[in-house]
Amino acid sequence: MSGAETVGTRTYDVLVIGSANADLTVRVDRRPGAGETVHGTDLVESAGGKGANQAAAAARLGARTALLARVGDDAYGELLLAAQREAGTEVRHVLVEAGARTGTALIVVGPDGDNSIVVSPGANDRLTPEDVTSARETVAASAVLSLQLEIPPATVRAAVAVARETGTRVVLNPSPTPDRLDHELLAAADPLVVNEHEARQLSGLTDGTPALWARALRDRGARSVVVTLGGDGALALEHADAEPVTVPGTAVKAVDTTGAGDAFTGALAVRLAAGTPLVAAARFAVRVGAASVTKAGAQPSYPTLAELPPAPG
Ligand code: ADP
Repeated sequence: MSGAETVGTRTYDVLVIGSANADLTVRVDRRPGAGETVHGTDLVESAGGKGANQAAAAARLGARTALLARVGDDAYGELLLAAQREAGTEVRHVLVEAGARTGTALIVVGPDGDNSIVVSPGANDRLTPEDVTSARETVAASAVLSLQLEIPPATVRAAVAVARETGTRVVLNPSPTPDRLDHELLAAADPLVVNEHEARQLSGLTDGTPALWARALRDRGARSVVVTLGGDGALALEHADAEPVTVPGTAVKAVDTTGAGDAFTGALAVRLAAGTPLVAAARFAVRVGAASVTKAGAQPSYPTLAELPPAPG
């Protein structure tokens, strides 16, 4: 079955199985040290979580997108569902659990626009392998399955196993990064999408260059690799025999980098679902990531196609 034939028969371009969190954000002039208190701005509550972010990014770009996630029956769960509906995501598979707390991320944004985050997983920790196997038909109906690691590892492994059976392409963003990534997960990733920090940690190379990290991750079993490089764009290693290709960054004024990597990954999944080769998909995703850092928040910052900065000429 060729990729092109597969894409034509699927109901969804992108299915995301992953986390949904309410982002509680405060901006500060200076980060607090241990034992220290600093004053911040008024609290802002917005929709986040790596899974929900990637789904919102894909849906806002016009892709047919579904999300499989778990939230609690609290106000934050409602906020997250409303945000997905607004983005255009199919939310039939977002499970609302009575009595559970919706996942929450406590985010501090510093004066440089960079952020520090503490996540309380809540209902995300209750997304089970059975939830995934029950959604087998939805996985089968999707061209690309996008996964991250903010849900239980057994659930991610179940998703990879179902995707293998259904011939669904897996995009894996191994974040938050474990000390070691299962070979099974690495071998399913096409591509593995990592930022610089994750690339160093998973490749085991503290020094070196993005190209070396990408090759090391490929040698460890990833079928293809993308390393995101913040304002410097990304590097893509298309397949086992390919040379790494650098994709330049898009110059923008960074206001808040929260969720930039998720915007990138959602956008990458959209183009891969359409059959676009990895390097070209990464060029598109770099523009989407750049647009997302020009506005505050994760999902509220995600662009539609019309809002993207122009492609370099
Ligand atoms: P993460 O958010 O996972 O740490 P990165 O910081 O590498 O990932 O950012 C992901 C993508 O977001 C980059 O590849 C780029 O497209 C975009 N991006 C992030 N920071 C900037 C920036 N300062 N200027 C322009 N684009 C950015």
